[in-house]
Amino acid sequence: MDSVKKMIVRRVYPSGYCLGVINAIKITRKTIEEHPDEPVFIIGMIVHNRYVVEAFRNLGAVTLDDRDLSKEAMIDRISKGVVIFTAHGISDHIRQKALDKGLTVVDASCKFVLNNRDLIRKHLDEGYVILYIGKKKHPEAEAILSISDDIHLITGKKDLDSLCIGNERILVTNQTTMSIYDTRELIDAIKVKYPQAAVSEDICDATRSRQEAVMKLTDTDTLIIVGDPRSNNTAQLANIGRNCGISRIIRVEQASDLKDVTFSPDERIAVTAGASTPSYLTDSVIGYLKEKDERYLKTDISRIL
Ligand code: SF4
Repeated sequence: MDSVKKMIVRRVYPSGYCLGVINAIKITRKTIEEHPDEPVFIIGMIVHNRYVVEAFRNLGAVTLDDRDLSKEAMIDRISKGVVIFTAHGISDHIRQKALDKGLTVVDASCKFVLNNRDLIRKHLDEGYVILYIGKKKHPEAEAILSISDDIHLITGKKDLDSLCIGNERILVTNQTTMSIYDTRELIDAIKVKYPQAAVSEDICDATRSRQEAVMKLTDTDTLIIVGDPRSNNTAQLANIGRNCGISRIIRVEQASDLKDVTFSPDERIAVTAGASTPSYLTDSVIGYLKEKDERYLKTDISRIL
């Protein structure tokens, strides 16, 4: 008798919300509750997920997220109320500007981002030049680069080629949500050019453990990654999957993105999610894949937070 072919759908562990994101969401909820009569502004996406932004908008907090507008210009436009700075960190200059305007400042910066910032400051004080592996225009990288002109952003090998540093003291570090593979590759390239460079690889625990879980996947035809297009750690999960040779990588924001995707009857599917992806969205994707029930296709914003 022929064995019946069956699609296998499994969730990758760990995946989804990290502690930094949980903390930023808690802080934002609490701030909205504690300031019922004041306008509450979030400077940039509180975490990189548009459904979370929408859920907070429904609770009354306004997210300012015009990518053509600097954070400084955003603060210029606010005359009163509370400003929340996001998990990605904020420059001292902008934080001070908000305080000088008499705004109430709430900082939801993640402790991993702050630890990395403190390490960079300490080394700058000791005369180091910093090579910072990160993403151009990412809010975490922007906040770090604002600290000093002695911090050089390295987005790829081309940035390294154009760099000429005379200083013997060099520290290499990185944005917390980078790919383990890309970061190692760039660190190796930097060490060839500057063998004296000290290295502090600062990929945060949550990013690292989620990437390592993807690296360990076996018997997987398709990796589905649930998360926002703006989320760097989500993008890096896709890169890791590709690097590990998983033949089909699909990025989705919600279950309905899978509506027109076809799967073979015996496809082995693993589902993971970025650190800023609400569990409800990942659960809906898994529910849809397993049950093919249309009720999973509608995203209910009231279940996001
Ligand atoms: S991904 Fe890492 S650095 Fe970013 S908020 Fe989460 S724990 Fe913090």
